[in-house]
Amino acid sequence: MSRQRKANTKATPKQDPARTFSAASTSPASGRSTTRVTWNTPLFYAIILSLGFSLYQFWQGQSAARAYQEECGVRLEVPSAPGFNEAVISQLGWRPPKLSEERLFEVVDLPGRGKGIVALQDIEMGSLILHESPVLVVPRSLNVDPVSFVAHQISTLSEAEREAFYGLSYVPADAPDVSPAIISTNAVAVGNGGIGVFPTMARLNHGCAGAFNVVYSFREATGEIVVHALRNITKGEELLTTYTDTKRPRHERQAYLSSQYGFECSCAVCSLPPSQSEHSDKQLTKMSTLYGELAAWGAAELSGSQALRLVRAIWALGEQEGYHSERGQLAADAVTVAPSHSDGEAAREWAAEAMRWFAVELGEEHPRVREMQKVFVCPKRSGVWGTRQTERVGGVH
Ligand SMILES: [Zn+2]
Repeated sequence: MSRQRKANTKATPKQDPARTFSAASTSPASGRSTTRVTWNTPLFYAIILSLGFSLYQFWQGQSAARAYQEECGVRLEVPSAPGFNEAVISQLGWRPPKLSEERLFEVVDLPGRGKGIVALQDIEMGSLILHESPVLVVPRSLNVDPVSFVAHQISTLSEAEREAFYGLSYVPADAPDVSPAIISTNAVAVGNGGIGVFPTMARLNHGCAGAFNVVYSFREATGEIVVHALRNITKGEELLTTYTDTKRPRHERQAYLSSQYGFECSCAVCSLPPSQSEHSDKQLTKMSTLYGELAAWGAAELSGSQALRLVRAIWALGEQEGYHSERGQLAADAVTVAPSHSDGEAAREWAAEAMRWFAVELGEEHPRVREMQKVFVCPKRSGVWGTRQTERVGGVH
């Protein structure tokens, strides 16, 4: 700028300083305005000041990015800009669906299969379908006889609650006192080793592998069970959860479900024709084997990139099998691996994926989503940063 001004000054008569800097010049004859900016006009100084300010801002942005890289282990542009976290999180490509005011499901009688829950309308992936408090909780450690504890709990229930409790199915069907059988058949973990019975949620039937479409989780904060849609569900479809780890062959799944819950599973995966069922069994068994191999990273028997290759392979098998559950945890495993090997970019990618899937499976306000968000925003603060050999472990794709 100064060189240009000097050159222009030389070529310009001193008596006409207006020619030293011309921002715009048009002929008056054309009828358009003529604007001349001289080196000593306020506009000239405003331009210089504005350029200087832009340069200062650029320098500030660069030094903020450097400081951020130092602090968080990942290079980002203008990380200090207001709303940065919100902006990056909104780029994840998934929005939690709005809570529906309408009832999304109803409990119905299913011919030959007892009761079940069906969708009353189309339900979007990640929707909160149900939240429910337990009618009965049995803590892990009791200093009284469990049978009398349960009897006392039941005596405190309202008539409607008691009816809901005794209306639940149970195994074995010929139990002399049905309440322990109802509890062992229907109760789910409620934290701290306790179990609870949730009469509506307990109406969810089982589906194996890619056949189940909802997941339940317990909320410590509210003491409720919540059920979320794992994928888009169409009106009239039965809502199915899973009672067990179904990453195993059909005969093993069915034997377990029959002995534990007293039914022969006829879900979509169990009903596949023999050749397809065999293929599906192989895929599910492979998933389980790969999970086992992935655990070796914990014992430092695998490099970071080997571990993440396994994560990607499990992910791909899940995609082929329509098995979309557990993806939050799978991505969260990668979120442990990547920062351990000081790979900030990979940590961010996997943290974004984990946030997205935890939000679908557990709800966007779940602590696991927040946990992943922290790593997404600043990988170096993950608590495991640099605990393993530095390595480019690779992102999601
Ligand atoms: Zn099945």
